[in-house]
Amino acid sequence: MCDCLFCKMVKGEIPVNKLYEDEDFIVIKDINPEPKVHYLMIPKEHYANLTELNDERAVKIGKGLKILSTTIALEKLNLKEGFRVVANTGDWGGQSVHHLHFHLLGGEKLTDKMG
Ligand code: AMP
Ligand code: ZN
Repeated sequence: MCDCLFCKMVKGEIPVNKLYEDEDFIVIKDINPEPKVHYLMIPKEHYANLTELNDERAVKIGKGLKILSTTIALEKLNLKEGFRVVANTGDWGGQSVHHLHFHLLGGEKLTDKMG
């Protein structure tokens, strides 16, 4: 059995409130929002991070980022002033859950801090 937190959410083994779902992704609220508006876009397929992209995955991620930036950030969350999308990658990149995910951050003016 997979011991991955995000796989359990994708399979419905852990109940989550989904803002969005399609055949490839779920989007959920981060449990520890920082800044005010903080969502996670999680591919349904398990792989660790961006270093494990192949051509097929890259196409899906491209479509996912389009949905995240338009349908979700602009239409659902009204982040017209701007937002940030981040994928922490590996230990030095600050990744704590080793199932690829993108943070959508906004709702206030973000600092220029990179780490
Ligand atoms: P990262 O550090 O980039 O791997 O991001 C993992 C994110 O998952 C963090 O921002 C956590 O706050 C978030 N997280 C951990 N557990 C949960 C949960 N049960 N529900 C929603 N978000 C979570
Ligand atoms: Zn997983």
